[in-house]
This record gives sequence, structure tokens and C-alpha cells, in this order.
Amino acid sequence: MTWDAPHGEEPADGRLVAAAADIEDAAVEAALRPKDLAEFIGQERVREQLDLVLRAARGRRATADHVLLSGAPGLGKTTLAMIVAAEMGAPIRVTSGPAIQHAGDLAAILSSLQEGEVLFLDEIHRMSRPAEEMLYMAMEDFRVDVIVGKGPGATAIPLELPPFTLVGATTRAGLLPPPLRDRFGFTGHMEFYAPRELERVIHRSAGLLDVTIDPAGAAEIAGRSRGTPRIANRLLRRVRDYAQVKADGEVTKELAARALEVYEVDGRGLDRLDRAVLLALLKLFGGGPVGLSTLSVAVGEERETVEEVAEPFLVREGLLARTPRGRIATPAAWAHLGLVPPQGSPGSVRQTPLPDM
Ligand code: ADP
Repeated sequence: MTWDAPHGEEPADGRLVAAAADIEDAAVEAALRPKDLAEFIGQERVREQLDLVLRAARGRRATADHVLLSGAPGLGKTTLAMIVAAEMGAPIRVTSGPAIQHAGDLAAILSSLQEGEVLFLDEIHRMSRPAEEMLYMAMEDFRVDVIVGKGPGATAIPLELPPFTLVGATTRAGLLPPPLRDRFGFTGHMEFYAPRELERVIHRSAGLLDVTIDPAGAAEIAGRSRGTPRIANRLLRRVRDYAQVKADGEVTKELAARALEVYEVDGRGLDRLDRAVLLALLKLFGGGPVGLSTLSVAVGEERETVEEVAEPFLVREGLLARTPRGRIATPAAWAHLGLVPPQGSPGSVRQTPLPDM
């Protein structure tokens, strides 16, 4: 496998519950990656569809169709790209959109591929426009035009490429121009994982890391992992440290809960920043509505941090809503922080209880 550039989203900003990879993750994740489709947990639909695509290609002794994987960071896109290569018995080359700023960068990579090689292009939506246009032709005709010279004397020299499989990954499928999207034979949409699936991820990783964990311990970590295997694996490593230092090494429910309290990750996977945003919204602004700028000043964070780092998960969890009048807390937010909403606030609107059956 060849890595052209560090991959991943923005730096993980030191948060234990960040979905993007940090330096430690990059070092240990290789050991935890499932090696084939049978070992890959969850994502049933993507797995089944990809299995068909790969089997059919193998049956035809052909290179597999190009594959686009979309979904949040940490859900297994890189892992699946490596599995595509492993299942096809092909080498893999790893690079990312931001590393390809010029069409020439892409031409250099494409022209050095071997026949059947898998090219994994992470964050494909962040590639430069000229590189993207070169990629269209490469994907469709396995050919690129390399421009030599500048101005009126510039000439295009056609270059034949060996057939290859492009696996593109993106967290923002909506940002891909349709001509690029259309050139993928298969698109897999990765979903957040159910707690049961994360428990399986945790048991599997615990086995590989030589950690003894009981089912309730795994469930406790899964519940705090924000639907994301990368976070589950990271929390497991922190719980393992705690178990090693403070206990006899076995991870139980109580031990996992105590360890993650030390790291300030609560029972639903909120960390200090998430809770600070919710607390300010509830205590200072009565549950809102309040503007993003005011809320950010109250928490002492940049507007972008609140909007891009804390809010997406709070919205997904149904704890905060973004409305045209500002941010509001939901009844679930009051309940989660053990506070009582003032009468008449949006948070005091209760669901009508179901009649007894
Ligand atoms: P992405 O490329 O989407 O950011 P990765 O493929 O790098 O995510 O996965 C992050 C970590 O989560 C890896 O260590 C991998 O082992 C683990 N992981 C992801 N998906 C699964 C899965 N379905 N089963 C087991 N482990 C997984």
C-alpha cells in the first residue's frame, strides 16, 4: 500500500469524541481495521451491494467499477477502500483531494498506477477543478491529456492509463459535481452505527488489543460513541488505560462509566464543549431562541467552533434545533441535563402521554 499524503478530515482538535482521526488513531487504526467484507461490521446494505460488485468483477476477471463512499468521518470509508483492494487481490494507493492541487499531481499518480490497482481518493470533494476534470476522462476512458507548455504553444499529449478502480470518499456527497458523481458505477451511503453494531466493533477491537471486557462494559462504551466506530475504538483505548491503572484490568459497565467520566464524556457521548453549549442555552437563555453569536460568546468559543464542532451532534441527537429565530433547546435537552424548563419555554412543551393499554 502506498500513502501519498496524510488522509483524514480536519485535525481532531484534541477532543476524545471528535470523529476525525488524530495522530494516535492513525498509528493504531491499521491494526484494528477489518481485512475483508465478512469481518466488516454493520452497513448491511453497502456491504451486500459492494459484495455483488466485487464478485461480479472477479467473475469477469475485470477491474471493479469505480466506487463512491459517502458518510461522516470515522464510519469506515478508508477501511472499505482497503477491503475493495484486498477482495480484488490488488494493491492500493492512498491519497486525498487536498493533496491534489494541480492536474499534474493527479497525472503523476494516475500514470504510475499498476493494472487493476485501487486508487483511494479521500475527501474527493476537495480536489481542484482542473484535477477533477482530468479525473472524468481517466475514470471513463482510462486516458488523460497531459498539457505540455503554456499559452498558444501548449499541446495536449494523450496518455493511456492501465485500468484501475477509483474509490472516492466524501463526507459531503452533495458537493460533488454531477458529472463526477455519475462516473461512479456504485455509490455506498454509510450510516451511523446502531449501538448493537458498535458493541460488536468494541468486542472485536478488545480482542485485538487484549482487553477483557464484559457485554455490559461494551454496551456502556457503545452508548457514548456517537454512532462512530473510530470514537468507539478511541474510548475503548482510554477505558483500557483506566482499567490497567485503577483496577484489575477487566472492563465492566461501572468501570467504563467511571473511566469516561474522568474524560468528561457523558452517558450519551456529549463532551465538555457540547454540555457547555447546552447549559448556556438552558441556563442563560431559558432554552432559547438565541442567536449563534450570542450563544458562542456565552460559552467563550468561536462561532465556527459552536456551529461546526458542537452543534451537528446536538442536532442529530435531538437536543438542539436550529430555527430562523435562533437556537432552541428541545425537551430532551432539559431532561438530559436534569433541569426543569420554565413554564412557556419551547422546552416545556411535553409530548401527550399515551393512554394506558
Ligand atoms: P473513515 O475513512 O470513514 O474516516 P476509517 O475507515 O478510517 O473511517 O475507520 C475508522 C476506524 O474505525 C478504523 O480503525 C476501523 O478499524 C474502525 N471501523 C470502521 N468501520 C468499521 C466496521 N464496520 N467494523 C469494524 N471496525 C470499523
